[in-house]
Order: sequence, then C-alpha cells, then structure tokens
Amino acid sequence: MPFSERFLRANEILEKAEAAEPLTPEEIGLLYTLPANSPEAFLLRCAGLRRAMALSDGKAEIHAQIGVDAGPCVKSCQFCSFAKCNNPEGELKLTPLSAILDYARAFQEAGANLLLLMSSAAFPFERLGEIVTRVREAVGPEMPLLVNTRDLSYEEALSLRRAGFNGAYHAARMSEGELTDIPLATRVETLENLRRAGLPLSFCVEPVGEEHTARDFADRVELHLRYAPLTGGVGRRIPVKGTRVEHTRKFDQAEQARLIALYRLLDPKTPLVGSANATLAANSGANLCWAECGYNPRDFSGRTELDGVGRSVDYIARIYAETGWELRRGYSSGWNMSGGEKTGE
Ligand code: SF4
Repeated sequence: MPFSERFLRANEILEKAEAAEPLTPEEIGLLYTLPANSPEAFLLRCAGLRRAMALSDGKAEIHAQIGVDAGPCVKSCQFCSFAKCNNPEGELKLTPLSAILDYARAFQEAGANLLLLMSSAAFPFERLGEIVTRVREAVGPEMPLLVNTRDLSYEEALSLRRAGFNGAYHAARMSEGELTDIPLATRVETLENLRRAGLPLSFCVEPVGEEHTARDFADRVELHLRYAPLTGGVGRRIPVKGTRVEHTRKFDQAEQARLIALYRLLDPKTPLVGSANATLAANSGANLCWAECGYNPRDFSGRTELDGVGRSVDYIARIYAETGWELRRGYSSGWNMSGGEKTGE
C-alpha cells in the first residue's frame, strides 16, 4: 500500500521533532488536526511514547488529590461543578479536617508519590496553613504537599510556602476569561508569584474542547513552559452534567491520546506528563495521573472516589502495569522540600 502524502509529511515532522528541532505553526497544526485513528496519529502517539519513556527512564507517578471544599466559587468557570453559575443556591461545603487526614494517610499507604490539596476560591484562605500543618504531621517529612487554590499575590504564595507547601498546581486555562470569570493576566500573574515564592509548578493544558485551535494549544504549552514546571500535560474538557458546558462534545480517548503525544513533542524537558487516566493516554506518552477523593470539580459527588469520576491509586497503577510503565516507588522529587527562600528567584 503506498504511503499517503500526509503520512510522509507527518513522518518528516516527527523526525524533525525527534532531532529536537522546533516545529513551525504549520507543522503543529497538521499534527493537531490528524484524524484520531489515522495511521499518522498512531505514528504521532508512538513518537510521544518514545519521547516520554526516554525522558523519564520509563518511570510513572501517581499524584493524589484531596478536594477540601466544593464552593460555591464566585469565579464561575463554566466547566466546574464548584462554580456559582452551576450552583446558584449552593452553600459552602467543606471536607472535615479529620477526613482530610484520613484521606492523606490512605493515599500514602496506597503508594501515592505526592499529595495535592485542592480548594476553590470560596475556601477561607487562612485555613490552608492549618491544614498543611496537620497533613504534614500525619504523613511525615518526605511526602511532597502541593496546593491548588485561587489566584494569589506574591505575599500569599510566600505564606503558603512558609506554612509548609512544597509546590503548587496552577494553570492558565483554555478560554480563560471567556469560559471563566478570571482574566488570563491574573492567572499568569499567579504563575509568576508562585515562581518567585519558590513553589515549583505543576500544570496541565486544560480543559481542551473542540473549539480550540492548534495555535491556542501551542500558545498555552509555551506560556506554561516559561515557568519551568515539574509536571505538564493535557486535559480534555469533561462536559459535567448540570454545568453550562454539559452539551459540548468530549474528546474521545484516541483524541486525548493524540493531544498528549503532541504535548510530549512540544515540551522537550518536563519528565512527568498527565494525564494517564486511560491505557491509550498512558500508551501515548502520559506518565502522570491524579488519584482523587473528596470534592471534585468534574462531578457533583461529595466523595468522588465512591460514586464520582475519581480514580484510586490501585486503578491507575493497573493502567501503568498494562502499558509498560514502572510506577515510581517512594516520593516525587524536585519539589521545594527544604522551604528554602531562594529557589524561585
Ligand atoms: S475551576 Fe476553580 S476558580 Fe473556577 S469555579 Fe471551579 S473552583 Fe472556582
């Protein structure tokens, strides 16, 4: 069977990427729009997996997220179940501290490499310090603890690092300022404040929907890479029932896998790339996945691990076992565990 012109062109672009040459917007556009199950998309996914395996020595990680509240959050991101626009009558819902500590111990016991405490913009900021102190007492000194919360000033970011957080998840989302009530500049300012405060970054290009172009995608990758993140990745938009985006189309697994492989080629350094929430994704270059419990912005359950979309450490470990990844034993590395003052400057 003769190879199509598109196949030959895709192969040429992937050889260029393998040689670490930057891709042009036209080349990125071709890869971004490949039909998801085309021979060229399989080539791309193969290139993504090879790059990922080489950059991480075949090691994958599981980061565990504890949702500490469910809003209602005034930032009203249309894709989020915590958003006030999706919860007009909602009242602040909090995970009790005792449950947060139980979740933290259970995740550590199950083998999670890192813990992430996620709160909405409605959560009382001053309580984050108390929570991280108590979680640290529960899990000991070696477990990296990340925060995922609202936009922060430099002083607030610094106070979180001094309280005991070792890094932060933060992202300038797709369609920021359009599907959210947060200007893109505010998100970028927070990325800068986290960096200056010495909190290394975890992020994803998310939530990607079918209205986004290759240019939108590549711009977001480039923006975040300026902050030298320790983890990157891609997340498709989940049309959560009951939110304003519930009638939009969700990318299928092959489309998500294609995006992950392309991300992997556009990011030549970051060793951990999410989200490996399915075998196709893990088999296309994703070697990071989040186990989730408590409140979750992608469902309306109060215990996402029981009846929502949350996955367990064991479930994710099985995905890695089936796709040739070796799960890292012990803790994720590179985070600011010392609390040192100068890492961000
Ligand atoms: S995504 Fe975050 S900022 Fe936006 S509504 Fe949800 S909790 Fe609030």
